[in-house]
Amino acid sequence: MIPSIEKVRSEFKKDTYVQERLAQLYAAMDSTYKEAADFYKFKCTGCKDNCCFTRFYHHTFIEYCYLLDGFDTLENEKKMEIKKRADEVCTQLNKADQKGLPVWQMCPLNFDSLCCLYSYRPMICRLHGVPHELTIPGQEVQCHPGCDYFAEQRKEKKYFRFDRTPIYAEMADLEKNFRQKTGIVDKIKMTVPEMIYEYDF
Ligand code: SF4
Repeated sequence: MIPSIEKVRSEFKKDTYVQERLAQLYAAMDSTYKEAADFYKFKCTGCKDNCCFTRFYHHTFIEYCYLLDGFDTLENEKKMEIKKRADEVCTQLNKADQKGLPVWQMCPLNFDSLCCLYSYRPMICRLHGVPHELTIPGQEVQCHPGCDYFAEQRKEKKYFRFDRTPIYAEMADLEKNFRQKTGIVDKIKMTVPEMIYEYDF
């Protein structure tokens, strides 16, 4: 059973070590991503297939807590609006899942094509778009080509090596460190709409 998020958050708020390392990791991701995007001269503004329509799953409590810390900085009226949107998105996703239909729903944090919690957004939102590599022990290196919009814009075949492996390893290590201190053993797999939907603020 997943522990109450409020209980987890109170532990997270006390854990300045994990908070600081997570902030540093996010900064490192943003700077590596920028380096890659600049190399390709890739800009994702104006993309009609906005990746905030994608159903990304997130697996760490530390990112969940970080996002909700960001959510708490918003005005109450905005929170209510986002909560309403999240409820609607979750309802639509559930309906589509029950019928086995594909579904595209915009993330409730996206307003006018911009993330209203940009500095609190989870890892996958920071890394999506440009090509990257991932090494899983015992397997061949996985190469991912980037999003469809990237492929459309790409003019040259030059390659910037963007290895996500150390980023994932650091995130896993941080989550493990937090879990060891708090005794959490349960796994999570949640979308941002679900995180907001579940949050009783
Ligand atoms: S959290 Fe922000 S960046 Fe991530 S999907 Fe939602 S709106 Fe987009």
